[in-house]
Amino acid sequence: MMRPIGLFGGTFDPVHCGHLRTAFELLTELQLAEVRFLPTGSPPHRDQMYASPELRLQMVRAAVTDQPGFVVDDREMRRSGVSYSVDTLADLRREYPQRSLCLLLGMDAFLGLPNWHRWRDLLTLAHIVVAHRPGWRVPTTGPLGEVMVDHGTGTIRELHERPAGRIYVRAVTQLEISSTELRTLIVGGGDPRYLVPDAVRRIILDTRCYASAHGANLSP
Ligand code: ATP
Repeated sequence: MMRPIGLFGGTFDPVHCGHLRTAFELLTELQLAEVRFLPTGSPPHRDQMYASPELRLQMVRAAVTDQPGFVVDDREMRRSGVSYSVDTLADLRREYPQRSLCLLLGMDAFLGLPNWHRWRDLLTLAHIVVAHRPGWRVPTTGPLGEVMVDHGTGTIRELHERPAGRIYVRAVTQLEISSTELRTLIVGGGDPRYLVPDAVRRIILDTRCYASAHGANLSP
């Protein structure tokens, strides 16, 4: 049995240490073969992106380069039009007909799942792994409560033995970092050091992709 592939989608505008630490803990603790970062092309849930798609991709590539098992998949960027996760998963399922695929989501993304295009179909294509804060409660009512009853599992073994269909919730170290807050910090002249990898910080400083015209005045 081949180990599962973890799929971590996001706008990554920019990618930050909250994303990377979560992906790292899930990679090692769930014994995934790899975590594949999938930067969104045109996200259905967001009106605006700030850095160009090329720069977001460049930052994700720079962020994962020295971690074995972290890979970047730019298929959503190469596709024209809106990126729906269900289409991406269907694509990957065609490539890996038998393989366990695990869609990795933060709890905030999971709670918004019922707004996603054809969200119930996601579980026919992949497992869902929810990274949550210790102490946070998984929904017990509403549509998510219902799918938890039908699809929830407490064992990693099921993620390895079946290709799709389970929801597994895992506590990970929480780093209270968001891309939105990072952009605000940078526009205000703040330094993102230690919130993003050094290589990502370098790209942000060199390209001034988030800084206002007279924005950050940061040391190299
Ligand atoms: P924004 O502030 O622009 O919404 P974000 O920081 O939430 O961005 P996204 O690219 O939208 O980043 O998120 C991609 C995925 O990463 C989602 O599944 C989200 O739940 C998860 N995620 C975002 N921030 C964190 C964090 N600090 N720790 C763990 N997971 C996170």
